Amino acid sequence: MQNTVLSLSDSLSLTCSRSGTCCHGNLVRLNPWELMRLARAKGMSSKAFRDKYTRESGSVLHFNGLPNHTGKSSCGLYEDGRGCSVHPARPLACRLFPLGRQIQNGTAEYIHEGAEFPCLKECPEVLGLPKLTVEEYLVGQEAALFEQAQDTYLEIMQNLADISFELLLDTGLSESGDTETLTSWRKLGVMDAAALAKEIPDEWLDALMVPELEEPTGEVVGFIEAHDELLNKKIQEVVTGLTTFDSIRETAKWMMAVALFLAHAIGADAKGLSEHWIDIAKSHGAKES
Ligand code: SF4
Repeated sequence: MQNTVLSLSDSLSLTCSRSGTCCHGNLVRLNPWELMRLARAKGMSSKAFRDKYTRESGSVLHFNGLPNHTGKSSCGLYEDGRGCSVHPARPLACRLFPLGRQIQNGTAEYIHEGAEFPCLKECPEVLGLPKLTVEEYLVGQEAALFEQAQDTYLEIMQNLADISFELLLDTGLSESGDTETLTSWRKLGVMDAAALAKEIPDEWLDALMVPELEEPTGEVVGFIEAHDELLNKKIQEVVTGLTTFDSIRETAKWMMAVALFLAHAIGADAKGLSEHWIDIAKSHGAKES
């Protein structure tokens, strides 16, 4: 389906009719900071929240609650008669809905699915409510901090992929004639988050989605900086222990799985990214069977 790209000054029926329709039958992805915030809002540890309210190892909210009149199940955090039970901590996807956000050439674009504004179908009453510009809507939803978190995790995803590149290109693995690594990256690129999770050591999945940080501040910058530091420390431990091409190849594979898993969690195009990264590796002499 073709998306419609919006400008910040576009005026739309973005005022919510509070029917709760968008909390049913949707896909809500979570980055690790959002997962932590939701867990705190529920008074739970991140691990306990992940196990109860998410699927795909913490990257997607469970929609396993009661169905609405159209038969679509509600988000597990939705309460009949009350609405969202974690409203102040709701993730970016919920703040933006029905808009989406994509990064094109380093710039954020806001979009909605299809040619017609999505809310008009399920909540036609929004037509009678005051219109807002996209910019006004984003301010009202307090989306800025959540966008900052999303963009910082995009950088961390790239850093994780860079480790795979270094293992392939800077250790002599590629020059040894290896073709398996790029073949494995291509296979990983078409996997969903659940399949990718099976390729990643459990300890790393936990470190990525439910990190135990020594100074667990809830602020976006403090949390993500501490998380990045933890991941870098773990990377150094892993890389230092690699002595054979087999171990380097295996690590380059699952480290790419970690990067692509995070791509899914932040709603990036994992398949497109893997193809892009394979092309870059090939331009540096790596080969694929
Ligand atoms: S987190 Fe809250 S706003 Fe988002 S889908 Fe779940 S119930 Fe709805």
